[in-house]
Amino acid sequence: MHARRRWLFSLLGLCLAPLLALAWTFVPRPLTVPDGELMALPEPARVAGVRLWRLPTAKIETLLALSVRGAPPTAPVTSALTAFVVEHPQGTVLIDAGIATEGHEHMAVQPALMRAVAKLDLVEGTGAALAARGLGTEDLWGVLLTHGHWDHVSGLADLAGVTTWMPSEELAHVRTHESGEVFRAIDAESPVAVRELRLDGPAHGPFSRSWDVFGDGAVVVVPMPGHTPGSVGVLVRPEVGAPALFIGDTAWVREGVDWPSEKPWLSRRLVDADPAGVREQLAFLHRLQARHPELTLVPAHDARVHATMAVLPAR
Ligand SMILES: [Zn+2]
Repeated sequence: MHARRRWLFSLLGLCLAPLLALAWTFVPRPLTVPDGELMALPEPARVAGVRLWRLPTAKIETLLALSVRGAPPTAPVTSALTAFVVEHPQGTVLIDAGIATEGHEHMAVQPALMRAVAKLDLVEGTGAALAARGLGTEDLWGVLLTHGHWDHVSGLADLAGVTTWMPSEELAHVRTHESGEVFRAIDAESPVAVRELRLDGPAHGPFSRSWDVFGDGAVVVVPMPGHTPGSVGVLVRPEVGAPALFIGDTAWVREGVDWPSEKPWLSRRLVDADPAGVREQLAFLHRLQARHPELTLVPAHDARVHATMAVLPAR
């Protein structure tokens, strides 16, 4: 009898241990933030005619707890798949490419676990969304990719011939890593006009390197490796209103920077190339927000933050 009970307890323990271990990965565990104030960002004169818009292309209803470690287990969140549009006197720039008209095909090749928890709701493919507003590919100066994952490059399928900027580390990553499958498929169908994004400009406040795209401080690209080796942040200073720093998928939602807290283990495993690097970036961004409360930090998928930006109007 005793032996049988012991055996039952052992079996129960064997079954429960992995579940408890998994549950632990969702428990709040805020990241350590180093002391001290960061160096301030420069404040260049605002450039007349620079405007910032969002172009919603798709969304996925999901759970906040899958986006950031420590969130209540049942809180829903809308994951927005958005391209951002910067109008500048020297050209119109897209930050990330949104989801293409054929976005469902791009979703279909994602890992089974991702497809199980995420159903793509295509609002309007990037090409159609731009055309509906009177913009064609010939009106675009280029696309700045925060990184090369499918939900950031999908829209390139609608943007044949548009110059697309990526650091060499990122290009090497999407050319070889499994997460670059959609980029490679789009590139195979119609070669993406990739140009190397070089962060060889001077330090920009607390960022060690930069690329000032138009030379006037209105659009400045900064390094943000971690989520992928060549992830970048894009700082936009519109003529009017708050400056915005697009942080790609360093955090999926605001709470990642505010608390600060990384993605839960399951999500990290799926998407983060260098989790320690991401943690470092999140602590850094938390300090940057403390130094610059006026700066809007824009995680690539936080619909609540995106909603604070106006949708691109028709031309
Ligand atoms: Zn993403």
